[in-house]
Amino acid sequence: MHVPVETVSADAYTVPTDSPEADGTFAWTSTTIIVVEVQGGGHIGLGYTYSDRSVAELIRGKLAECVHGRDVMDPPAAWRAMTRAVRNMGRDGLAATAISALDVALWDLKCKLLNLPLAQLLGRARDAVPIYGSGGFTTYSDDQLRSQLAGWVENDGCRWVKMKVGTQPDRDPHRVAVAKRAIGDRTLFVDANGAYSARQALMLAEIFMQEHDVRWFEEPVSSDDLSGMRYVRERQPLRMELAAGEYGYDIDYFRRMLDAGAVDVQQADATRCGGVTGFLLAAALCEAHHIDLSGHCAPALHLHMACAAPRFRHLEWFHDHVRIEHMLFDGAPAPDDGLIRPDLSRPGLGLDFKRSDAARFKA
Ligand SMILES: [Mg+2]
Repeated sequence: MHVPVETVSADAYTVPTDSPEADGTFAWTSTTIIVVEVQGGGHIGLGYTYSDRSVAELIRGKLAECVHGRDVMDPPAAWRAMTRAVRNMGRDGLAATAISALDVALWDLKCKLLNLPLAQLLGRARDAVPIYGSGGFTTYSDDQLRSQLAGWVENDGCRWVKMKVGTQPDRDPHRVAVAKRAIGDRTLFVDANGAYSARQALMLAEIFMQEHDVRWFEEPVSSDDLSGMRYVRERQPLRMELAAGEYGYDIDYFRRMLDAGAVDVQQADATRCGGVTGFLLAAALCEAHHIDLSGHCAPALHLHMACAAPRFRHLEWFHDHVRIEHMLFDGAPAPDDGLIRPDLSRPGLGLDFKRSDAARFKA
């Protein structure tokens, strides 16, 4: 059957954070989500990305034109057409986030036409996905840091939690000590968002590992510096893993990172790297490199595809996005004993957009 795409809509919503947030190289007080809806065959498919509001215009214009009339049953064909259509404007960055949201909406629509959950359509490698709590912003007081991290352990059963470091490197050993005390025997991860130099990263890695058993060092140096990441990875304590990949917009980005031996665990974000179609490509590449994959942010969007991806390690339960997903989408998952699992009674991503609740955030 050929079911044509009839309409495409996209709107941006800017949601203020619940307190100022910062990591090692960036600070923010709000987050913009672009929600896409694709209509065809009497159903509506839902997708979204975290990006700039200008992306909504790109989706409503050039990309809508590109997918209009195409077969809803073939999301990868639409994905290839969209990728070709943005060649001259630059495929990475904003355009990639726009394509990602539309691709997810097309997969969601296909699932709805078939009345299947996305995890089932793709084929499940697992029934549930482990999550790790993520936040611990460098703007937080010690009390805020303690209560947020302990909450993920006590309320959600997370085995691992991640905090930001790198804004004031001199204070990081103290902040890491505070965080470790708050989570007891659970494992602490740190994310520097590229804030350290290679030598600074190695000196701190020793302290973090020896004193606080930190097992995950994310972007110790800029993830654009592949040889720098490899340098740190090869010299940091053996029990500590190096991770990066959240700024990957295409398959070649992941190939270069993996070929460079820059990471122990590859991260990827489906809201940036091409939606379901792009995420599965990244997952196949990880499989071929014998490297685990970890999902970056947007947990409600990643849940079903994470069930399908081989070598999937865990999904980032990011404070900001968890808040927004629960505000805007019915069906956003709730953790149980450190896991989230797809609701197989609902088709697609299992999410319904709460349009009236979102209205006050419309950008
Ligand atoms: Mg990160």
